[in-house]
Amino acid sequence: MSEENTKMMQRDLEVIWHPCTQMKDHETLPLVPVKSGKGVYLYDFEGNAYIDAVSSWWVNLFGHANEAINTKIKAQLDTLEHVLLAGFTHEPAIELAHKLVNITPSGLSKVFYVDNGSSAVEAALKMSYHYHLNLGERKALFLSLTNSYHGETIGALSVGDVALYKETYAPLLIGNMQVPVPKDQSMEAANEALLSLEEVLKDKADEIAAFILEPLIQGAGGMHMYHPTYLIGARVLTKKYNVHLIADEIMTGFGRTGKMFACDYAEISPDFMTLSKGLTGGYLPLSVVMTSDDVYNAFYCDYNEHKAFLHSHSYTGNPLACSAALATLEIFEQNDILGENEKKSLYIKENLERFSLLSNVKEIRQQGMVTAIELEGYLPEERVGLKIYEYALTQGVLLRPLGHVIYFMPPYIISYEEIDTMIEVAYQGIVNVLKVP
Ligand SMILES: *Cc1c(COP(=O)(O)O)cnc(C)c1O
Repeated sequence: MSEENTKMMQRDLEVIWHPCTQMKDHETLPLVPVKSGKGVYLYDFEGNAYIDAVSSWWVNLFGHANEAINTKIKAQLDTLEHVLLAGFTHEPAIELAHKLVNITPSGLSKVFYVDNGSSAVEAALKMSYHYHLNLGERKALFLSLTNSYHGETIGALSVGDVALYKETYAPLLIGNMQVPVPKDQSMEAANEALLSLEEVLKDKADEIAAFILEPLIQGAGGMHMYHPTYLIGARVLTKKYNVHLIADEIMTGFGRTGKMFACDYAEISPDFMTLSKGLTGGYLPLSVVMTSDDVYNAFYCDYNEHKAFLHSHSYTGNPLACSAALATLEIFEQNDILGENEKKSLYIKENLERFSLLSNVKEIRQQGMVTAIELEGYLPEERVGLKIYEYALTQGVLLRPLGHVIYFMPPYIISYEEIDTMIEVAYQGIVNVLKVP
């Protein structure tokens, strides 16, 4: 590693404790100090370029230093940087909320601002519990899918099912039950999983406030994918048994799955939808909980300290973040992003055919602008993902496999040539680093 990068890394390691990291790994694994970004590229302090094939943890939609987004944020910066959202309001929050109501499934008519994904999940769980309480029912249990991920704060962690993140904190968690996620993308698997869902609801619906799921793609659970039929069935069953449906579209929202929202594939309207990540184009922390008039009205009454939703965060609805989100939505309005993405995802799929000939490739799956290659035959301690990550960095691509699942989730502005590079590096990684015949 070059001197400038090394210097930066050493200064970092003196004081920064990084997220989701065993810090001792950095005794041998170099940190990548990023100086700047442009388009799909990140640049380090020596001018090395890396294709950001994971959209900086799934947030970036239209590239780094996007001019349209930059311009809008700069204008907002000179107008109003922040104001509390209780008792006060501002134009970016108002305009954004209207736009979100217009583009999300009908029935989602109210927007509650939060400031990150996990907190949006927390707010949705609390709202659902509180809704039932306001109607005279105490339902303190939540239902979620096996292999799910909804964030890292205590409530969000409780409804998730990635053992690596959750197990240690088991004694701290809130009441949660899990039903099996459909085992693959087939309709049969979806129908089979719906049978298990109905069994649990039949038995436990009196105690369950809400069923939360990641529609179509379980992100942190290794890009596991399932059929929209499951969403249709889950909507019918949750209505039938008086349980809320929370669609956590924090990762899937804003075109990632091929449609604007994953729920659009099933044409369902959940009781709550959580959005974050792509919401601001990957610029600033912001999230929302969208919900229905029915939920909103259950809290609406003359002042009674037990009935109102007294939940807040200091940076709720930050104007700069809202303006980044407005600029992001404008890009969708002014371009055929979903149409272009459809072509790109097809191109990615066609280019992955040679991977299926490799002996350690178990499955290749795709949903819109998410493509995953699952490897098999490795133990967790072999850390094959880490090996591929390290190799790809030397080749100028940022891949960040989840265990033994290599995936591509690039910014939508990636060019066909950059797609070629991204895929070629992953291929060479699998073949050379893992010495696969
Ligand atoms: C990332 C993610 C979260 C958590 O969002 P943070 O902003 O990282 O707290 C929740 N749900 C899903 C589906 C996610 O992908």
